[in-house]
Amino acid sequence: MTESTVPFSCPNCKRPVPNRKSRFCGYCGAAVPEDFLIGEEAQAKLRAQQEAERKRREEQKKENPEPLSPLDRDIPSF
Ligand SMILES: [Zn+2]
Repeated sequence: MTESTVPFSCPNCKRPVPNRKSRFCGYCGAAVPEDFLIGEEAQAKLRAQQEAERKRREEQKKENPEPLSPLDRDIPSF
């Protein structure tokens, strides 16, 4: 649960820019590196993907329960 909203700071004037969607700093007008914007969106996308995958796995587990490690099946049990 790391939902801490770290204020984005302008790389030029180091001032916190509240509007991350803005492509330019509201104080000095410096262009905001797209890395920051993309990073934010990529992070959200990644999180959504992970969430979706987790749900998919949960459903798969429900449909056909398997041991956590598939290697377990290859190890002969005495
Ligand atoms: Zn600035």
